[in-house]
Amino acid sequence: MSEKYYCPECLSKLEKKEGCGSISYFCYTCRKLVSRSKMLTEEQMAMKERECAESPETIESEGSADA
Ligand SMILES: [Zn+2]
Repeated sequence: MSEKYYCPECLSKLEKKEGCGSISYFCYTCRKLVSRSKMLTEEQMAMKERECAESPETIESEGSADA
């Protein structure tokens, strides 16, 4: 299974690093390792994106098509 994980700070995709029997995740943007408890799963990322998109002003009725 290849799951994707994301940096909690910059939301970049994390690079999986395997070595010495342990797996760690590295963010090239922040240039640091991200602990498993802090990194975001794809699911959490989707939730975050939804949060950001939920500004009440922009949510209008979907009836108006812009043609
Ligand atoms: Zn980062």
